[in-house]
Parts: sequence; C-alpha cells; structure tokens
Amino acid sequence: MKGFAWTSAPDLAAALRAGSATVAATMAAAPGPAAANAVILKAGGIDLLDLMKEGLLAPQRIVNLRGIPELGRIAEEPGGALRIGAMVTLAQLAGDPLIRARYGALAQAAGGSASPQIRHVATLGGNLLQRPRCWYFRSIHHDCARKGGRQCFAFMGENQYHAIFGQYGCAIVHPSTAATALVAFDASVELVGARGARRTVALENFLLGPEVDLQRENALAPGEILTAVLLPAPKPGVRSFHLRQGELDSFDWPIADVAVVLELGRDGACRRAGVVLGAAAPVPYRARGAESALAGQRIAEGTARSAAIAALAGATPLAKNAYKVPVFEALVRRAILGAAGQA
Ligand SMILES: Cc1cc2nc3c(=O)[nH]c(=O)nc-3n(C[C@H](O)[C@H](O)[C@H](O)COP(=O)(O)OP(=O)(O)OC[C@H]3O[C@@H](n4cnc5c(N)ncnc54)[C@H](O)[C@@H]3O)c2cc1C
Ligand code: SF4
Repeated sequence: MKGFAWTSAPDLAAALRAGSATVAATMAAAPGPAAANAVILKAGGIDLLDLMKEGLLAPQRIVNLRGIPELGRIAEEPGGALRIGAMVTLAQLAGDPLIRARYGALAQAAGGSASPQIRHVATLGGNLLQRPRCWYFRSIHHDCARKGGRQCFAFMGENQYHAIFGQYGCAIVHPSTAATALVAFDASVELVGARGARRTVALENFLLGPEVDLQRENALAPGEILTAVLLPAPKPGVRSFHLRQGELDSFDWPIADVAVVLELGRDGACRRAGVVLGAAAPVPYRARGAESALAGQRIAEGTARSAAIAALAGATPLAKNAYKVPVFEALVRRAILGAAGQA
C-alpha cells in the first residue's frame, strides 16, 4: 500500500474544505496526477482500506470523518420523521429502540450484515457508498467496463453472485443490505456540497444503474459529503420485515435479500406495499409487480405466494445464477408473511 497523508476533520466545514474526490471518479481516471493527488473521505474505512490493499486506489490524502459529532446522531424530527447521521454505525442502527420499533426491517438488515466487529465500525454512509463486490471489479488484473475498460467479464465468466435484473453492460448487484430496507421505506439522503449547499435526494434516485452511468453507483458529486439519511414518519398500520439468505451461515454479503413494508388498514387489507430485492440488480430492485399484487388484498399464504411470483417476473438470470430466482421467491413470500405477523 502506498503512503498517504492524514487529516482528521473536527467538523463538517473542515471536511468540506479538504476538497475530496469521489472514489468512483478517482478509480475511473487514467493513471496520472488526478488519481495520484486524490483526497478521499474515510468513514469506518472498511471498504476504503480494502480498495487500497487491493491496489485499486492510492489516494494522496485521507480525510477522516469519524470526529464530526453532528454526523453521529439519530434524531426524531418534528412530525415524526427520523434523521440518521451518516456516521451512525450498523450496530447502532440494529440496536436503536426507535428504529427497531418503527423501521424494523432496517434494524434487521443492519443487524444481519457482516460480522459484529464490522458492524461496530461500518457506518451507514459508508455502507451506502461502498463499491461493488464483483470479483473482476476487485481484481487489478481485470480492466472491466466499470473501471473504464472495454468489456464486462461477468457476462461470459463466473457470474453466480451477479444480477438477475437490469444488467445493462454491467451485472453487479448493489452491495448495501441497508439500502434494500431504506428504499422500501422511501428514504432520502442529505448531501452537502463543497460550498455548503444542501440537497436532499430520494435514495432510489441517488443510486444509479449502469444504464445511467456505468462507472459510478451513485450521484455523489466531487467534494460532496453524505450527511444523513432521512426516513419519513411511519403511517399508522405500517409493519415491515427483512430477510436475507447467505451462501453459508456466516458473515458475508447475502446472495439474496428482501425488504417488505406493508401499510395495513383496520380491516387487515393492505393499503400500500413496498417490496424491494437486494443482491438482485445493480440498484435495490423495487418489485412493482409484487407491490401491485398486494395492494387491496388481505395478507395470507396464497396472496404472498402470488406476489412472490410477480416479484420475479421478467428476471433475466445469467448462465450461473438462475438458482437465485426460487431463492428470491421463497424470501419474498416469507418476508410478506413476516411483515404481516404470520411468519
Ligand atoms: C466480511 C465482510 C462482510 C460484509 N457483509 C456485508 C453485508 O452483509 N451487507 C453489507 O451491506 N455490507 C457488508 N459488508 C461491507 C461493509 O458493511 C462496508 O464495507 C461498510 O459498511 C462500509 O462502511 P465504512 O463506514 O467502513 O465506509 P468507508 O470504507 O469508510 O467508506 C466507503 C466509501 O464511502 C465514502 N464515504 C464514506 N462516508 C462518506 C460520507 N459521509 N460522505 C461521502 N463519502 C463517504 C468513502 O470515501 C468510500 O468511498 C461486509 C464487509 C466485510 C469485510
Ligand atoms: S459486472 Fe460490472 S464490475 Fe463486474 S466485470 Fe462486469 S462491468 Fe466489471
């Protein structure tokens, strides 16, 4: 690993003044001064250090965000919305009583991710912004399309962990498990730009598929800092559930995960459903067919089964990952029943 300079930012203004580049732009830049002089932000450092150890990134300076108190808080806003600072760890998310009570699927998604040690260091902001796990992307020997090369090695290669939807020139799956639940809850992200301008973007629009941009997974601009994730106040009757399936019963990214958010009326009928699949597509995949199949219905085994089949309609698995389709169908069915309290 190459040596680098270190800055510990005491507050947001200092971090913004440091003038960071995004990791995606730095990795896509041709070798030269832009890549060698890059200033990169660090949260928990888990993904960043991986990229550096893998020889994929060699920043000139690292700016540590961990000393900025305002990024580490969870606070209820007037009206009941929840503001989660970007530096809140996955362990805090999993254990927070308010999140467990109101946004159960998020607590489950965070609590099931990685290992206890990683969850105590990994932050929500870093989790959403981590780069993909595709093994060709992570190998310095493969100059694939996402790194500015000409081809996607996964299409003809080892694609068992890749996408079954939306593979437009690149078949990554989005690596963040928390994002699956956050999209189901219609969360937004707050971003502050180099000159202090704040913008709020729906997470679903912030995360970019390869048909929009092949070399970056999100719309983070150079110099921008993700400061918070915002969750809307839950409506009465909202219940949620997250389920993941790993290849082994061990700490690793899931091969499939599902978040379901149901808004149930007093009569037990579903007013509105959010059904989102993780590890299925380059962005968390909103299963609109399943959401429509649930709307207006009472939740029971048969409804859940039909919705699960609708969720997977239109899947386009690759040569080695068709096994994901029945795995997802089972997870969607069980997550719907779980959200309805019938698991
Ligand atoms: C064995 C193992 C198993 C794992 N399993 C899972 C899993 O099941 N599910 C899952 O979701 N993840 C999993 N992970 C990934 C892990 O959760 C992420 O690497 C971690 O969440 C990244 O967070 P961080 O705070 O360490 O980010 P960092 O590595 O510090 O940052 C990640 C990226 O975000 C940028 N960044 C960070 N914070 C900000 C900010 N506030 N504003 C702007 N840019 C920022 C950094 O520049 C960097 O590019 C696993 C990791 C390992 C090693
Ligand atoms: S799936 Fe994407 S990241 Fe992986 S080899 Fe293909 S282009 Fe590269």
